[in-house]
Amino acid sequence: MNDMQVPNATAGGTSTSLITVVASGIQAGSGTSVQQTYRVAMANLNTLYKRLSASGAKILSVTRSDQSGSSMPAPDSASQPSVAKAPAATAAPKAAPAPKSAPAPKSAPAPKKPHGKIPVNTYKPKAPFLGTVTENYTLLKEGAIGRVQHITFDLSGGDPQLEYVEGQSIGIIPEGKDAKGKPHKLRLYSIASTRHGDNYQDNTVSLCVRQLEYTNDAGEKIYGVCSTYLTDIEPGSKVKITGPVGKEMLLPEDEDANIIMLATGTGIAPMRTYIRRMFEPRERDANGWTFKGKAWLFMGAPTTANLLYDADFEHYEREFPDNFRYTKAISREQKNPKGGRMYIQDRVLEHANEIFEMIENPKTHVYMCGLRGMEPGIDEAMTTAAAAKGLDWSELRPQLKKADRWHVETY
Ligand SMILES: Cc1cc2nc3c(=O)[nH]c(=O)nc-3n(C[C@H](O)[C@H](O)[C@H](O)COP(=O)(O)OP(=O)(O)OC[C@H]3O[C@@H](n4cnc5c(N)ncnc54)[C@H](O)[C@@H]3O)c2cc1C
Repeated sequence: MNDMQVPNATAGGTSTSLITVVASGIQAGSGTSVQQTYRVAMANLNTLYKRLSASGAKILSVTRSDQSGSSMPAPDSASQPSVAKAPAATAAPKAAPAPKSAPAPKSAPAPKKPHGKIPVNTYKPKAPFLGTVTENYTLLKEGAIGRVQHITFDLSGGDPQLEYVEGQSIGIIPEGKDAKGKPHKLRLYSIASTRHGDNYQDNTVSLCVRQLEYTNDAGEKIYGVCSTYLTDIEPGSKVKITGPVGKEMLLPEDEDANIIMLATGTGIAPMRTYIRRMFEPRERDANGWTFKGKAWLFMGAPTTANLLYDADFEHYEREFPDNFRYTKAISREQKNPKGGRMYIQDRVLEHANEIFEMIENPKTHVYMCGLRGMEPGIDEAMTTAAAAKGLDWSELRPQLKKADRWHVETY
């Protein structure tokens, strides 16, 4: 078996992990099958896959040879470069199985699972928890479009306690009956507070709710049932809460992970929880998880007055300039390079190179949240951005998804 070191063209770049790829192919001239081992920097992995694919080689294994020594899934075929799987936030910590031939030294630290247990459906619709509203205030500035409220519920006294982690949602069952005279069904809302709550007492949950408003075919103004119930609710009111639910939007355990966040409107809710967990000093003290990677928030809103939690994000950007970047797309006030409205996908295109450099690093996760309508625009921008780097987004995106690095929650 040959052992070949592939030169690292981007030494000193963002990715320092060395990847070992074992492939088999037909040796030119002899016609016999040979196995070859390549060691490449993560940044060069795609190039290697393409080269192997062009030569008709079959990839047998892909292993990361950094401190973790973790193995990575081999691509399904050499023509489809696989994306390194990132260590995901999981439920109850599991001990890593020690390989029989080479037991881990006793001093090796246990895998760190600072995000801990992921609770799911502690309260179900048939027996919801009754939370008490403690505050309900607007998140909008004067001149903004619509209504968006930050609403907090007291969860104390629950048996069991309603606990949750960053990236999850809760269900709300509005008061009253539907058109058929039946109790309303629950609506889901992304949690906007960290598990410690806005008051750091571990006994509240906050939401960021936009009142649904549209004009029907008959020209009447229609307001959403649950969103109106919540945006109007008075402190002291009791509200039926279910959940928590959701494992799609959990943060990775890795403190060195990079987090790209794409949010529009109330899609900012999970991002607010991540950013508070990463940068709010009291959260950092309480977490046992000190974020050291790069976080980049892209936020889309129609007007400056509609930007949610804007002052907080600007504050974190000033305090953590090496770790946090905040890019806004304000559609009715800013113009894209073509002279049209500046949407979040225009910002993605503008920064395509940096975004893809980050995505090449297996520690980078992308989170998208907001109205479902944002997805095609982002997809189009990623397709264009990927093509500029010689990559095919329709192949890359499912691989990122499979590797738990592409997280989407749209509604
Ligand atoms: C995982 C998840 C997380 C969510 N997180 C949040 C969040 O953080 N914040 C938030 O505000 N919302 C969030 N939502 C949306 C939320 O669950 C509700 O769907 C939303 O509040 C509307 O509910 P409602 O009861 O007010 O509207 P409803 O009274 O249920 O009305 C909704 C219905 O109105 C109709 N409709 C809506 N728009 C139009 C239109 N333009 N034209 C014609 N008909 C229309 C549709 O039939 C739609 O089903 C989330 C949804 C999911 C699935």
